[in-house]
Amino acid sequence: MILHTTQVVIDSKSTHKNLPLNLHTTTKDLSLDNSVAYCPLINAHDHLIGNWYPKAGKDKPYPNSHIWVEDMKQSASFLERNKFWFNDGSFNLLVPEAHALGRLGAYKNLFSGCSAVHDHGPNQLPKYYQAMPINVIEAYRQCHSITLGNWWGGESPEREMELAGGKMPFIIHLGEGTDEVTKQEFAELERRGLLKENTLLIHGIAFTKEEIVRIAKAGASVCWCQNSNAYLIGETFDIDSALQVGANVVIGTDSTMSGGINLIAELREIHEKYPHIPLNTLFRMVTENSAKALYLSEDYGKLNPDRCRNLLVLDRKKEDPFENILELNAASIKLLVVEDIPRFGDRDLLDYFPKSEREYTFFDIAGREKFVIGDPLAISNEIDSVLGYHKDFPFLPF
Ligand SMILES: [Zn+2]
Repeated sequence: MILHTTQVVIDSKSTHKNLPLNLHTTTKDLSLDNSVAYCPLINAHDHLIGNWYPKAGKDKPYPNSHIWVEDMKQSASFLERNKFWFNDGSFNLLVPEAHALGRLGAYKNLFSGCSAVHDHGPNQLPKYYQAMPINVIEAYRQCHSITLGNWWGGESPEREMELAGGKMPFIIHLGEGTDEVTKQEFAELERRGLLKENTLLIHGIAFTKEEIVRIAKAGASVCWCQNSNAYLIGETFDIDSALQVGANVVIGTDSTMSGGINLIAELREIHEKYPHIPLNTLFRMVTENSAKALYLSEDYGKLNPDRCRNLLVLDRKKEDPFENILELNAASIKLLVVEDIPRFGDRDLLDYFPKSEREYTFFDIAGREKFVIGDPLAISNEIDSVLGYHKDFPFLPF
């Protein structure tokens, strides 16, 4: 299929008018008026099973997040989620209710234009990832944090780094606070030989300028979760220093128990609070930088017009395509394709793809009929039937 859109964004530095895109699917060509094509976004940090609502925590701001982890367990949100799925501490997310929550979290990301998300938790069996509506990244090693270790499952951080073999990211929460406990975590990470090119550090609120320089020199990455940090800790990562020294910064939402509604809400709030950061720089953080940090294939992070396997087409509401990203909502997504498979979009566009065995669900948003892969409405209904009332998730568009 050759697709024509009004405007095409190859990456943060290159945009075109009237550039045809080759989708290698059917032979039927398609022309979409008033539209912009992008590579889809990547959410570098989420906890898919944690996407309950509203946020949890009564004693904020916390000096560090480790205190919140305990406090959160008493919150109304956490207790309500317990009625649907009680985490016995095993973190076996193939238990049907946990798997349903994982998929619900993945839909949060799908409806905000993401092709991929990193679900931070202990590695799961392949079946967990295969059932997801978008790419929930499977090749990674991790530790919860230096201070709490791998309390939720997994090996020691040193062993996890060894298992990553330099070929996949090693992901760890670090410096999520303002107290002495979190301030010493970076030095401890370095002492233990865990600052490498494949290290992805989540949060980094406590990092000093000097430490950020060391991260940039190591070629490691930092994930900025601005909304979650502001809510829990009242402070955030020193983004300006990181941009100055050219560190690889990516953006993550965290779960909705501490973070914003989705990646677009995150970008909008960052733009409001940090208007001096160019919008194409923010776009780079959620595309190229994330693809690099998460060791994703070349289909991610940048649009390839000759072989477009991943694609996001939006309504064109703003002339500047990077400003247009901030206008994204589920209704304005004309089409989301991940690894050649249409995942979400306007219903009539599904006919341009080869017929498949895959299950799709159809629903309306503001009078516009949409298709979506799988059945997120069934997950919502399943939750309602267990709770005995309707549970509203603000990241779902129905
Ligand atoms: Zn987290």
